[in-house]
Amino acid sequence: MLRSNARFLSTTQPRRFAEPHDLTDALPTPITHFSETEAMMAEQVSKFANSSILPKAREMDEKEAMDPEIIEQCFEQGLMGIEIPEAYGGAGMNFTSAIVGIEELARVDPSVSVMVDVHNTLVNTAILKYASEEIKKEWLPKLATNTIGSFCLSEPISGSDAFAMATKAEKTADGYRINGSKMWITNSMEAGFFIVFANLDPSKGYKGITAFVMPKETKGLSIAKKEKKLGIKASSTCVLNFDDVDIPKSALLGKEGEGYKYAIGLLNEGRIGIAAQMTGLALGAFANAASYVWNDRKQFGQLIGEFQGMQHQLAQSWTEICAARALVFNAARKKEAGEDFVKDAAMAKLYASQVAQKVSGSAIEWMGGMGFVREGLAEKYWRDSKIGAIYEGTSNIQLQTIARLLQKEYTH
Ligand SMILES: Cc1cc2nc3c(=O)[nH]c(=O)nc-3n(C[C@H](O)[C@H](O)[C@H](O)COP(=O)(O)OP(=O)(O)OC[C@H]3O[C@@H](n4cnc5c(N)ncnc54)[C@H](O)[C@@H]3O)c2cc1C
Repeated sequence: MLRSNARFLSTTQPRRFAEPHDLTDALPTPITHFSETEAMMAEQVSKFANSSILPKAREMDEKEAMDPEIIEQCFEQGLMGIEIPEAYGGAGMNFTSAIVGIEELARVDPSVSVMVDVHNTLVNTAILKYASEEIKKEWLPKLATNTIGSFCLSEPISGSDAFAMATKAEKTADGYRINGSKMWITNSMEAGFFIVFANLDPSKGYKGITAFVMPKETKGLSIAKKEKKLGIKASSTCVLNFDDVDIPKSALLGKEGEGYKYAIGLLNEGRIGIAAQMTGLALGAFANAASYVWNDRKQFGQLIGEFQGMQHQLAQSWTEICAARALVFNAARKKEAGEDFVKDAAMAKLYASQVAQKVSGSAIEWMGGMGFVREGLAEKYWRDSKIGAIYEGTSNIQLQTIARLLQKEYTH
């Protein structure tokens, strides 16, 4: 249980919304050096993932459903409120701890990893950063202990161009009325709480976009079609409809017309989580195949991992995983230090998703036919890796962000 002793062991104080830190006198450490709290997170999540999730990963994938027991255990382990302060029932840990947890989960099952990732880095963070005290008091204890959250931005007509959304909000005597639909919403089958973006004043374009919160029971909110996917099949992805959904004034998240700013900020941070999901996936795929080639499978009288042709491929892949992890943890540390991390987060997500896809694809080949069948996890890692280049901004969108910021730097 992380919640009980997390604060006691913490050496890295939560620095979420503090002013930028002066790092001039800080002693540099290796980027992947963990504080005691972060190391504890890695160890506990690894134990939990291997003992409780691994035996169910294949079955959940085949059934295309998250086992409710796994969800319950994620709450029990304190993994659903990593950065939520203890006063609200969370673990009160820092951002990098969340990243460490997301990576460890993805080594074993990227579906469980994204469930925890979206809940923590998008939903919980949105409430912590922008919600009224009333919303915080009502929802943070639930989000930390028993209620899954969804982040509803994308729509059938608006993906990469997220702010071209058609979902509308209008003011009523008591609050707001929402009409429209959302698509691709992670966790939505299991969620009890939704953050919904809608345009309150389309004449203002993206400056009309406003964020609202609503519980699952809200009249007029319905969870429609559940997508059948290539990968991360145990993670639910659904269409949501809003038909004359009336919500009170208190359901406003932050300020009217600022939803686009919140979405941009949240996705910038969230991207580091997806990058960690991808490095975790690459580590899992590598470990699975390395164990096979260096312990189990012999051809021509020797272990197949002893052939130089194989060794070079394994060495190349490991180098790329380490390079991706350096980008991920550097982005996380910069975010926590209050430095500008937008380009770093984009680079981390772009590269980690490329490495995950490449390594998990190679790992199948290293295992030959055994990599191709659905008995083990090799083929699942590869299927799961494809999503890294799509959600929370496609690879082209990451490249666009990186290039835009570089151009700014290099323009006289
Ligand atoms: C499994 C899954 C889970 C998801 N979870 C969530 C969630 O929880 N909440 C949520 O709000 N959304 C979620 N999404 C939506 C996701 O963020 C979008 O799918 C993503 O932003 C891409 O949008 P799109 O699918 O409409 O692709 P499109 O925007 O149609 O892009 C298609 C292709 O065009 C390219 N392209 C588009 N614009 C440009 C450009 N300007 N320059 C160059 N290339 C361009 C893209 O890079 C891509 O290759 C999820 C999606 C999936 C598949």
